[in-house]
Amino acid sequence: MNILVINAGSSSLKYQLMDPNTGDVTAKGLCERIGLDGRLTHKVPATDKKVEKDIPMPTHKEAIEAVMAILVDPVDGVIKTVDEIDAVGHRVLHGGVKFVESCLVDEACKQAIRDCIPLGPLHNPANLMGIEACEKAMPGKPQVAVFDTAFHMTMPPKAYRYAIPTKYYTEDHLRRYGFHGTSHRFVSKRCIELMDGNKDLKIVVCHLGNGSSLSAVKDGKCQDTSMGLSPLAGVPMGTRSGDIDACVAQYIMNKEGMSADDCLNMLNKKSGVLALSGVSSDFRDIETEANKGNEDCALALEKFAYEVKKYIGSYSAALGGLDCLVFTAGVGENSGTMRASICEGLEYLGVKIDAEKNNMRGEEAIISTPDSKVTVWVIPTNEELMIAQDTAEIVGKL
Ligand code: AMP
Repeated sequence: MNILVINAGSSSLKYQLMDPNTGDVTAKGLCERIGLDGRLTHKVPATDKKVEKDIPMPTHKEAIEAVMAILVDPVDGVIKTVDEIDAVGHRVLHGGVKFVESCLVDEACKQAIRDCIPLGPLHNPANLMGIEACEKAMPGKPQVAVFDTAFHMTMPPKAYRYAIPTKYYTEDHLRRYGFHGTSHRFVSKRCIELMDGNKDLKIVVCHLGNGSSLSAVKDGKCQDTSMGLSPLAGVPMGTRSGDIDACVAQYIMNKEGMSADDCLNMLNKKSGVLALSGVSSDFRDIETEANKGNEDCALALEKFAYEVKKYIGSYSAALGGLDCLVFTAGVGENSGTMRASICEGLEYLGVKIDAEKNNMRGEEAIISTPDSKVTVWVIPTNEELMIAQDTAEIVGKL
């Protein structure tokens, strides 16, 4: 089976053609600079082939057409015709309260995604453009929308409600939604499989990448998560501040004569470890400079580890204990130093890391000692596979 997985951003579009049963990726790539000029990078993992092409992409429609063209290209392609694609799965940022699971794309689904634009103003329009471009390029091909927020819809009201006047919840739907849900679902599901299918587990998932979020999972269901109405909330990230006192925003806006939108842009794009380190938003660069003695970089890493640790503590309290701690995404999968800093001092919770095992990178492994009460895992995330599996399952029922 061939599922085309699409992740459409405002000026970029990532794709993977994959088998949902084996997880094998036949081809993958990226369209960049949509709306400017247009550039396609296409890779075929089996042969290590990489093709880069400048192709005009005034809109997402031309980007999808370029993807279709390269997939069936006699030289660089991997399939003979578009008919070999069974279905398309789309990553969609915001499903609001309407989507608790993935759904087949039809007019009602598209309208619901459109209705969520006020909640995801940057991403949902781009996600819709990706869906509509696929409809034009492959009329009649089944498409499925997979929402970043859906996994978190099992949170109880005490976790998702904000303590602000109720009308903002009832009229405007302002509440915690949470993001990276497809990753949290994939990783917690995999953790349960690896722990002999024991569903009762109390799990804290740490998705630590350029964007970072944690979730508290019990019985396979999300109980709480660190991102909120938007991905700005929670721990500090590459360029996002994470949780701050709202008065900080008010102070800066008053001082600089800044609009709310500009201030939010600053908190989303110019803050986080980028701001603290003064060097980079990339954790590898920050670790390199910290190792050379840069104190700002050391503080950025210390702050990040400290805030993640605080969330682990609070989620253990919320869950009434902790059985498994799972690290995933770029930093979580690869940085043994960061994992060690986060786990340092969590012995009271029953977390004991094996320093040697913790040296590993990017593979599925237990990094705790055999006598650690909490099993600490590194589980590489695979959001594309989760999207492909949901798509295959929904299309299989048609
Ligand atoms: P993601 O958003 O999941 O792709 O993660 C990207 C982040 O992971 C970037 O900040 C990278 O610097 C970080 N990362 C990737 N590999 C490593 C590594 N070996 N050590 C530290 N950070 C890493």
